[in-house]
Amino acid sequence: MPTVTIDGCEVKVKRDATILDAARKAGIWIPTLCYHPAVPSEATCRLCMVELDRGEWKQLVTACNYPVRRDIVVYVSSERAKKARRGVMELLLARAPESQELKALAERMGVKGTPYPNVTDSQRNCILCGLCVQVCEQIIGKAAISFAGRGAERTVAAPFRQPSEDCIGCGACAAICPVGTIKVRLHKEQQEVEISPFKSRVKLLVCQECGTPIVSSEVSEQVLRKSQIDWQEFRELLRLCPKCRRSQTSARLRAASVYK
Ligand code: SF4
Repeated sequence: MPTVTIDGCEVKVKRDATILDAARKAGIWIPTLCYHPAVPSEATCRLCMVELDRGEWKQLVTACNYPVRRDIVVYVSSERAKKARRGVMELLLARAPESQELKALAERMGVKGTPYPNVTDSQRNCILCGLCVQVCEQIIGKAAISFAGRGAERTVAAPFRQPSEDCIGCGACAAICPVGTIKVRLHKEQQEVEISPFKSRVKLLVCQECGTPIVSSEVSEQVLRKSQIDWQEFRELLRLCPKCRRSQTSARLRAASVYK
């Protein structure tokens, strides 16, 4: 097992573990945004830069995807590494000036603001990390959103920037978005769920007792198709929200104990 020496602290990791894995094992914090264990790391945000000692010279590398294959020496707290990460954070703050998640992370890194002008409204609050695109394609199997445009106009959008017919309203993209830009909005009156900012809308199954939204109808169809559950049994499961199901079960139990 190779040894990683991080800021003087030695830790052994499996071959091909990343510097980030080693740092976490050693209890050393490295800020991350585009890293998520559910999908392969593409190191797009570059917030996890550290300094790798190559003997004669030192190189900045991204900790989340640098594989450890031999003994290495790494500096997380060197001035050069901290300056590089702070510079990245300043650029990210210009991209997503309203993100509370980003502001909290910037504060933890000691970054007070950004000297850069904010990006255009069409890209506002997206750091282009691509986690949403990855999760939609690789985990949900839908590819309802993707990168669109080039250079300064690059953004994440549904095809032709119209609501996507492939979106099933699962909300996985919103759950994985590290800056809280993608939102799941419920439209109770229309019984629909909207994935913002992509404007995709999907019908919701609602509780037949109290009307609480339970799940997107498309998601339930997908689960049904992929599972072995009997159709009737599945529909019965989704007929009521958990609260109404619990109260019906307790009412049944109470009635059973009264008439015994
Ligand atoms: S809500 Fe739509 S766009 Fe988001 S991950 Fe699910 S299918 Fe993809």
